[in-house]
Amino acid sequence: MHLVAEIEFLVKMVQCWAPDCKHYNVRETCRFFRFPKDQKTRNRWIKLTRRTVEPGPGAYLCSCHFVDGKKDNGPTLFAYNKDKQLKFSFLKRGHVKRM
Ligand SMILES: [Zn+2]
Ligand SMILES: [Zn+2]
Repeated sequence: MHLVAEIEFLVKMVQCWAPDCKHYNVRETCRFFRFPKDQKTRNRWIKLTRRTVEPGPGAYLCSCHFVDGKKDNGPTLFAYNKDKQLKFSFLKRGHVKRM
């Protein structure tokens, strides 16, 4: 089942679930993370994303919202707090590649 989901991800165009983010997996260089199954982590993600709807099975967040692009850090970089995030610049200038 997991494998099928991965294949589906490759052929399907996925848009980032975050509000104000228009990143698509087929167009951007960022990675996409599926919402975690763990309810606690999942709720945290939803809260941080500040959307009022439940993410569906096809909901993904792109790595632009994660510090260092790491899923474990949790999605903390969003348009609503970009003033606090000096490195948050994807809305204007595209992706900054970090090594
Ligand atoms: Zn995004
Ligand atoms: Zn992105």
